[in-house]
Amino acid sequence: MAESKQEAFGWAATDSSGVLAPFHFFRRENEADDVTIKVLYCGVCHSDLHTVKNEWGFTTYPVVPGHEIVGLVTKVGNKVEKFKVGDRVGVGVIVGSCRTCDVCQQDLESYCPKMIFTYNSTDKDGTRTYGGYSDIVVVDQHFVLRIPENLPSDSGAPLLCAGITVYSPMKYYGMIEPGKHLGVAGLGGLGHVAVKFGKAFGLKVTVISSSPKKEDEAIKKLGADAFLVSSDPAQLKAAIGTMDFIIDTIAAVHPLVPLLSLLKMNGKLVTVGLPDKPLELPIFPLVAGRKLIGGSDFGGVKETQEMLDFCGKHGITAEIELIRLDQVNSAMERLAKSDVRYRFVIDVANSLANL
Ligand SMILES: [Zn+2]
Ligand SMILES: [Zn+2]
Repeated sequence: MAESKQEAFGWAATDSSGVLAPFHFFRRENEADDVTIKVLYCGVCHSDLHTVKNEWGFTTYPVVPGHEIVGLVTKVGNKVEKFKVGDRVGVGVIVGSCRTCDVCQQDLESYCPKMIFTYNSTDKDGTRTYGGYSDIVVVDQHFVLRIPENLPSDSGAPLLCAGITVYSPMKYYGMIEPGKHLGVAGLGGLGHVAVKFGKAFGLKVTVISSSPKKEDEAIKKLGADAFLVSSDPAQLKAAIGTMDFIIDTIAAVHPLVPLLSLLKMNGKLVTVGLPDKPLELPIFPLVAGRKLIGGSDFGGVKETQEMLDFCGKHGITAEIELIRLDQVNSAMERLAKSDVRYRFVIDVANSLANL
C-alpha cells in the first residue's frame, strides 16, 4: 500500500539557536481513529522555548513547537465517533500513550512511560511529531479535547497546557478547599491561571512575585486577594506561616526556604515550573513543620476535559497577547525575559492566510 501523506506547513527551529523559520513537512494521512485539525490558535509555552533551545537536552531538530492548540476538525476517520467535521477542538501536551498500562487505565496518560508528546517525540508510525505552530495537526481522537461553546479559541488555547498544569495538582493535592489560603509563586503563564482557579475554588489567593509592578493587575484584573513582593524581607516576614498551600510556577532556579517559611504547619508546596537546574532541598523546614514538597505534571485526557468544562462554566480564560507566526522569534525573546502578560498566543490561521 502506498503511504499517503498530508502536506503541512509550519515554523521550525533547526538548531539550538532556537530561531524559528518557515518549514514544509508532511503529516500522516488521516487514519481510522484520527482527526485532522486546522489550527486556529496556538499558545507559546515556556516548554516551547526550552525545547527550541535544547535547554533540557533532548531536542531533535527540526522541531515545530506548540502544544496549546485550538482548531477546527476538517477530517475524521471512519472509527471517529467523538467528533465531526467543523467541531472546535483542542490538543494539549500529548497525542499518544500506550492506553493499557496502569496509569493509562487510571486516565493519567500524562504519566504513561510510552506517552507521545505533541512535538519533539516519535509518533506511533515512527515519524517525528510536530506541534501547533503549523497549519494542520493529525491526532488520534482519544487525545483531542472538546472546547466548550463559550470558551474563546484564542484565550482558551493556553488552558491546554498552562491551565491543566495548575488545575491538576490543585485537585490532586487537595488545594481546593474553600477558605484556605493559596500562595501562587510566579505570575506568568501558569501562575496567572492558578490565581483564577484559586478564586473559582473559593480560596484566598496571594500572589508571590519578584515584580512589584504586577501588583495592581494581579489584584484588580486577576482577582488575587493579596500580593507579596518576594524580594522584600519585611513583607515576607509578615506573611510567615500564613499559607496552607503554595503552587510554585517559577521556571528559573530559586530558593525554596522563603516559600516554605510562608506555609503553615502541614502546608504543601507543589512545584510545576521546570527549572533547567536542580533546586536545593531544605530539609529542616520540612521536618520542623511537617511540610510537604510535591511535583505534578500536566493532566490526563479526562481531567483536561474536566478542566476545560470548568473553565467554560466559570468563564476562566488566559490573559493573552496575540501575535502572528512571523513574530514568534521576538515573542520567544520576550518570553525568556518574562516580558509577557501573560501568554503569547499565535493567530496561526490568520497569519498563514495573509502570507
Ligand atoms: Zn506547555
Ligand atoms: Zn500507558
